[in-house]
Amino acid sequence: MGDKLRLGVSACLLGQRVRYDGGHKLERFLTETLGPLVEFVPVCPEVECGLPVPREAMRLVGDPANPRLMTTQTGADHTERVLSWARQRAAELADAGLAGFILKARSPSCGIGDAEVCPAEGAPVVRADGLFTRILRQRCPLIPLWNEQNVRRAFHHPAPP
Ligand code: SF4
Repeated sequence: MGDKLRLGVSACLLGQRVRYDGGHKLERFLTETLGPLVEFVPVCPEVECGLPVPREAMRLVGDPANPRLMTTQTGADHTERVLSWARQRAAELADAGLAGFILKARSPSCGIGDAEVCPAEGAPVVRADGLFTRILRQRCPLIPLWNEQNVRRAFHHPAPP
C-alpha cells in the first residue's frame, strides 16, 4: 500500500451510505478501475462533524463568499459545526501525503465551485465551493481537486446510465 498514490475522496462516491437520505453515490469507475491502483482516504464532512444519517438536506445561503450551511426545511444552521471540524481535518489531511482529492459534484459541503448558493430571497442562485472544499482549498492549496465528473472525463469513462 505504501507506494500507491493516496487520494482523498468523498466517502459517498465509494458507496458508503453517508448521504442525507441514507444512500450513497457509488462511482464504480473509482472503486473498480482506479481503486486497485491507489489508496483512497474517504472523508464525509457532514458525518465526520457529527451529523446523523439520515439527516435533513442542506443548502448554502447568504453571501456567496461566506455562505451559511442551513437545513432546507427547519433552517438549522450547521455552518460553525462543519467549519470547526473542517479546519482540524484539513490540517490532518495536509500532512497525509495526498496526491489529489476527488469530491462529490454540487454538494453544499463537497462541491468544487458548483454548489448552489441562494444569496437572498428572490435573488438568482450563484455557485461556489462547498463548505469543506473552501477550507480544504485554503489549508491545502497545492492538492489538486477534481469532482467525479472531471475524473470520469479525464479517463474517457462513460457516465453511469
Ligand atoms: S457529498 Fe460530501 S458531505 Fe455529502 S454525503 Fe458525500 S461525502 Fe458526505
